[in-house]
Amino acid sequence: MRVPIIAGNWKMFKDETEAFELATEIRKRLKDVSSKRIVLCPPFTSIPSVKKAIQGSSIYLGAQNMHWEEEGAYTGEISAKMLLGSGCSFVILGHSERRAHFGETDQVINKKIKKAIEEGLTPIVCVGEILEERESGKTESVVEEQIRGAFEGINKKEIEKLVIAYEPVWAIGTGKTATPKQANEVHRFIREKISLLFNQEIAQKVCILYGGSVKPENSKDLLAEPDIDGALVGGASLRADSFDQIVRSD
Ligand code: PEP
Repeated sequence: MRVPIIAGNWKMFKDETEAFELATEIRKRLKDVSSKRIVLCPPFTSIPSVKKAIQGSSIYLGAQNMHWEEEGAYTGEISAKMLLGSGCSFVILGHSERRAHFGETDQVINKKIKKAIEEGLTPIVCVGEILEERESGKTESVVEEQIRGAFEGINKKEIEKLVIAYEPVWAIGTGKTATPKQANEVHRFIREKISLLFNQEIAQKVCILYGGSVKPENSKDLLAEPDIDGALVGGASLRADSFDQIVRSD
């Protein structure tokens, strides 16, 4: 059984005080929810205040990026160990904004995934096509290439430890959402690829989240699809009421 995950990607929003307030409110609202795993991914500087706000609850803490090296002269970077030490158990890797604005490649994402797993963090690995690729019928080939690149050299034991997020880039922050059918088709395709690259049993275990303008108005239909195991939520995770509604949308 795959336990659904609803993860909030707060991107570069919420300073320490705002993050504490938002996490406290989310904790209050979701205290009775045990059927889903809730993950909050604030900016690095707000990790300690969110940790404080959710301490003792079942909410997990996550980060939005990390470096693949243990330590070193990498100005501005954060290691997996540092994230673990700050209380994180998840880390978003390969988000399309990191691919587009910071030049992250599948090879770099692959190194980060390996390091995250080695250290005991659960990576949420993002894949997804841009509008032009969807319109020219390349969605599957793009997603397959991202998956092959990101999972190169990863073994069966490791793959079970990660989460995949399908996030069509054209749907992120645009208000446009893939229809539940469109999203599920790609989720099914990803599961088939995992089955071919690893095996059927593993493919059935891996959680595949959908991301791209998920909001209370569309989350119920998206989450009802058989291959959609949760959501990675950006904009709508910045308000406790909308995040709460998404978590409770089934
Ligand atoms: C995201 O940041 O991963 C995302 C899906 O954003 P939004 O929900 O705002 O489209």
